[in-house]
Amino acid sequence: MRILICGAGIAGLTLAWHLERAGWEVELVERAPAFRDGGYLIDFYGPGHQVAERMGLRPRLLRDRYPVDELSYVGRDGRQTSHLKLTSALENVFSLLRGDLARAIADGVRAPVTYGTTVDSAEQHADGVTVRLADGTTREVDLLVGADGARSRVRELTFGDVVPRYLGHQVAACIVTDPELSRRVGTRYQMLTEPGLMAGAYALRDDRLALLFLRREPDPALPADPAATLRRHFGGLGWILPTVLERVPGPAGLYYDLVTQVEMERWHSGRTVLLGDACQAVSLFAGHGASMAMAAAWVLADELTTAGDAPGHLPGPHETPGGLAGALARYQARMAPAVAEVQGFGRRSIQWLAPSNRWRVLARDLIFRLAALPGGSRLFVNSFSPGGHNLITSRSEVLESVRQD
Ligand SMILES: Cc1cc2nc3c(=O)[nH]c(=O)nc-3n(C[C@H](O)[C@H](O)[C@H](O)COP(=O)(O)OP(=O)(O)OC[C@H]3O[C@@H](n4cnc5c(N)ncnc54)[C@H](O)[C@@H]3O)c2cc1C
Repeated sequence: MRILICGAGIAGLTLAWHLERAGWEVELVERAPAFRDGGYLIDFYGPGHQVAERMGLRPRLLRDRYPVDELSYVGRDGRQTSHLKLTSALENVFSLLRGDLARAIADGVRAPVTYGTTVDSAEQHADGVTVRLADGTTREVDLLVGADGARSRVRELTFGDVVPRYLGHQVAACIVTDPELSRRVGTRYQMLTEPGLMAGAYALRDDRLALLFLRREPDPALPADPAATLRRHFGGLGWILPTVLERVPGPAGLYYDLVTQVEMERWHSGRTVLLGDACQAVSLFAGHGASMAMAAAWVLADELTTAGDAPGHLPGPHETPGGLAGALARYQARMAPAVAEVQGFGRRSIQWLAPSNRWRVLARDLIFRLAALPGGSRLFVNSFSPGGHNLITSRSEVLESVRQD
């Protein structure tokens, strides 16, 4: 089976990793001119973490992870207003740079990646898809996967204009180098919140700081000059912000986007399927996007590689005919409920991450103080995380356990 994956991010690389080991002929195309390093700090846990363990990535992620000992809110003068020590309740939450996670997966992928191009058009016929790339070349494949993020090109070509749900905020993230500020911030994740504004900083290795900015903005239009917009809204807030805002890199090093969720009734059409943020973006408010993207890639690979034995096996409420169509339908049926739950969790979290008024800022600080009491952080983690899902059990493992019963 030949497969073309558009987007060499977390989801696309994870799918490639699994399918090439199952004997598929895999190729990836990526719009960025080269591998995307760095990015922003993510908390990585849940089903994606289980997938990473199955891929043998745990030692590598243990090496690359950043220890976050404490979440700490500061005022304009830089003094702490509330904090939460992170204890063993969070020992399975890995804080990683998105680029380091992607690199760990990519190092195990042998499939070719063509950088600096994208899918221009895709034409489905009875036994395949003819894909034309922006570089003028053509591919004949059995399956086209759109793993090209929340603004997916493959989604646009296949499903037309799907408008992601705007969560009323814009987000920016970048990495700056400053030895003095990096020492000052250290391994606490420090945040400053004003109604409608949140800035966060965490010290990375090599004297670097990871910065995150969130801003409430009813208008879903991206600014012409993101760096200038950040300086205008955050430059007067004190703390370390005036200094770091002078170091914000140019467009290539500054991530700036709308905070959105993608909700779709169908994730596949014929021989085209969407994966990761392209069809299930949960937003940074949910904090599970990378994890869910890896889980989805694993579930899709599981379904595709067992598609041949579909009829008669594991009949469930969403069971559809076997073969490719059945595999794609079961992939969506397995993932969609968990995605919907995480998306709901993300929407409920907005008020805590980016409080809209002073009362909410005070309430959040109070919750942090309560959580600092003995046993509190466990309560905090449980009440702020969506429920677990047993997504990472393969069809063959389910069949095996049924056989044993
Ligand atoms: C600031 C921020 C904080 C976050 N925090 C967390 C967190 O704490 N925990 C967590 O689990 N998740 C977090 N996420 C979400 C997480 O990063 C995403 O959900 C995850 O990366 C989705 O994986 P993906 O492969 O679908 O998309 P991506 O990893 O974005 O990969 C998509 C790839 O497709 C490429 N591409 C885009 N368009 C095209 C095109 N037209 N043609 C070809 N290639 C294209 C992109 O360059 C990229 O390489 C956060 C996101 C942001 C923005």
